[in-house]
Amino acid sequence: PYTYAKSRAAFERALQVVPSGVYGHQGPAEGCAVPVSAYPLFSQRAEGTRFWDLDGNEYLDYMCGYGPNVLGYGDPDVQAAAAAQQRLEDVVTIPSSIMVDFAELLVDTVASADWAFFAKNGGDVTTLAVMTARAATRRKKIVFFEGYYHGVAPWTQKLDYPGVLEEDVAHNLVAPWDDLPALERLLAEHRGEVAGLIAQPYLHGNFADNRLPSPGFWQEVRRLCDAHGVVLIVDDVRAGFRLDLAGSDHHFGFKADLICFCKALANGYNVSALCGSDALKDVVSSLTYTGSYWLSAVPFAAGIATLTKLRALDAPALFDRLGTELTTGLVAAAADHGLHLVTSGAPALFYLRLADDDSLMLHQEWVAECVQRGVYLTSHHNHFINAALTSADVARTIEVAHEAFGIVRARHPELGG
Ligand code: PMP
Repeated sequence: PYTYAKSRAAFERALQVVPSGVYGHQGPAEGCAVPVSAYPLFSQRAEGTRFWDLDGNEYLDYMCGYGPNVLGYGDPDVQAAAAAQQRLEDVVTIPSSIMVDFAELLVDTVASADWAFFAKNGGDVTTLAVMTARAATRRKKIVFFEGYYHGVAPWTQKLDYPGVLEEDVAHNLVAPWDDLPALERLLAEHRGEVAGLIAQPYLHGNFADNRLPSPGFWQEVRRLCDAHGVVLIVDDVRAGFRLDLAGSDHHFGFKADLICFCKALANGYNVSALCGSDALKDVVSSLTYTGSYWLSAVPFAAGIATLTKLRALDAPALFDRLGTELTTGLVAAAADHGLHLVTSGAPALFYLRLADDDSLMLHQEWVAECVQRGVYLTSHHNHFINAALTSADVARTIEVAHEAFGIVRARHPELGG
């Protein structure tokens, strides 16, 4: 198993000068629930489907930077396009016309996109979407589905989180996922008050099996939003371009009014986009909303190269095939040791859970053994497939997973069998 002396030493230094050392989901803060002793904390290099940590340990990476790595780290076509643009210009007083090229490509690719507005992070565009819904309807309330995650702006947080005011979340309404009668009741109760409904295309939350929508669910949500004059916002920050290049709303057979993209948009270059229907274009134009780096040209060039390559590869079909191959193999490897591995969500963004222990700690132990053998998984978050992954990588992963299941099984005789 790997050891992490250099990562640990860097983390000790980080704790002195960075709040919590490494913050957010990439750090070992409480609630992340990765067994920290089993994880490296700093990387030093990445290429294709792999990265190397500070101690030189190599990983087959199924977290993909939590999504942005969609073609493989350092994809040569994306790197070449970014480098060519870098030689010309990046952040300048007025934008490069490559912004227009990128917007045209998005409008051509995404079914519900008549326009594209660029920013940097996912939260920039989910916030813009909510402001747009409120400006368009002159209403206040926003409907969410239980288990939602739309970033870290105050409106996305919970009342009991530090720094969040009652006012920040006073207009949030939460409906259970995939429960049409409950949604119908909520909208009826708040008739004339709801500006927008924001939702991931399916429930891909943490610490729980991911849940696809029931057939017909989204079509009925669309109908209810139309009936109540509610702006339907799809948060495709995580699933975007992994299920369907035309948008995850297109994948599930409906049309969003607004759709938010970020992670897979430029293979790691920092750009996000809100796309939407013509009916809302003037409303977006009327808002006060921008940022210092939002029109930087290098990420636009990277984004054009990324989308072009994803289209050429028919990447969603590839992700589905590789994800299915991998999860099928993992389930069989678990069964070999008398363990029951449950996979959920779309294969391109597979979520895993060992069902032999309700506390989820057995699962965490298995993941830790995989990480320490060079297969980077995270315990209670969905994973990501990228286009650099090969069937040989998948086979290697299953081999490591098999060994890790054996270790966990031997450590827990109480499981019986
Ligand atoms: N929405 C969803 C569904 C996400 O997965 C994320 C990021 N994990 C966000 C919004 C926020 O994106 P960002 O962290 O880039 O602001």
